[in-house]
Amino acid sequence: MAGSEKRRKRSNTEVCRGQSTEDTESRERTFYDTERASRRKSGGKPPHSKRARRRWGTMAKTIEELIPDYLRGLPVYVPGKPIEEVERELNIHAVKLASNENPLGPSPKAMEAARKVLGDSNRYPDGGTYYLRQKLAERRGVTPDELFVSLGSSELIDLASRVLLRQGLEGITSEGSYAPFSIAIRASGAKLVLVPQRHFAFDLQAIAKAITPPTRVIYLANPNNPTGTAFTGSEFREFVESVPDGVLVVLDEAYIHYATSVGLKDSVEVYQRRKNLLILRTFSKVYGLAGMRIGYAIGHPELLAAMNKLKTPFNTSGVAQAAALAALDDKEHVQRCIETNAAERKRLCEGLEKLGLQPVRSETNFVFIPVGPEAKAIGDDLLHLGVIVRPLGWMGFSEAIRISVGTAEENDKCLSALGQVLMKRAGKGELATR
Ligand code: PLP
Repeated sequence: MAGSEKRRKRSNTEVCRGQSTEDTESRERTFYDTERASRRKSGGKPPHSKRARRRWGTMAKTIEELIPDYLRGLPVYVPGKPIEEVERELNIHAVKLASNENPLGPSPKAMEAARKVLGDSNRYPDGGTYYLRQKLAERRGVTPDELFVSLGSSELIDLASRVLLRQGLEGITSEGSYAPFSIAIRASGAKLVLVPQRHFAFDLQAIAKAITPPTRVIYLANPNNPTGTAFTGSEFREFVESVPDGVLVVLDEAYIHYATSVGLKDSVEVYQRRKNLLILRTFSKVYGLAGMRIGYAIGHPELLAAMNKLKTPFNTSGVAQAAALAALDDKEHVQRCIETNAAERKRLCEGLEKLGLQPVRSETNFVFIPVGPEAKAIGDDLLHLGVIVRPLGWMGFSEAIRISVGTAEENDKCLSALGQVLMKRAGKGELATR
């Protein structure tokens, strides 16, 4: 067995259609590599000798040993740089276009509703989120017991794996998708199966082919973060038909409001026919409530009941629930956010093209841009000019950056700074072919 093959077998990460481990040596480390690297450091051997293990049996001797292998190698999720940190460190005024937040802020009605209940903060909130589930049930055409309100959609991503996976089982997602999918699968002890993308998008047919008897869960984001691409309702329906009933498809629709080519209602219609679907939504994006940490899932009541057993009590605050309820009613604000984003995304992309770049067509509130091997350096240069964007090396794209769509003013600042950076680098002859 070749060395790289042996290493892949030992790791709980597998890349479908074999991206070789050797490839990872020559490029920037990604979050996929962390576990392999830590195993390689110890020569793939357990840290203690056989003799010591015989003497002490299976008893752990250090805190480190208490932590299972599959968790020791797990990377921490790296969020976009906080604006306060950049301003403090560089002593500049910065704009943050790194975390796909809503630049127009929350609905004024949501802020008012949140303010009204602040005074009740001495009491625990309604852990069953009765009113929000009632409203969402009406809105989405499902029953309240098919709704689970969560601490952002991040909690749902984690709970789905904790409920369905364990060592010996498999979870599938795509390379180049939202990192917490892979982290959730690996944190459960199950094997992570990564399917390569096609043209920066999910390859749904290849994902269907990667299903094996131990597969229990598949994570998809539509539209995808960080590439911004989306699959259509009919592509998704076809995919779901090829997934066995015993495999759960987790469909993360964090950016669905911004997608013009995907039917908003499509996934609930699919869910009504095939209950092995868990649809995730968040209030962090179009509703502008990222700081409130609230989201929800639509899914089979039995699955949601199991997730409910694992969630922390009172996962969402009363303030967040009140804000979310009011945000759902402020349709004008949602519409304004969608339209502003579409207009600014178009302007940002046109500006990027004028700079000689080729952004990938986006269905979201951010743009994925291949910029060449200097992606990280370009991100750093932009930071020093007060523009925070996201170099994507950590997410597996060492030659791309992601820019969130901001206000007109923020986008102008970003385009002007990027123009300066590219010009400076071209002058130095540093910029590789884009
Ligand atoms: N899913 C995707 C695809 C995301 O990009 C994000 C955040 O950027 C989330 C989920 C997390 O959302 P939340 O703030 O609801 O936890």
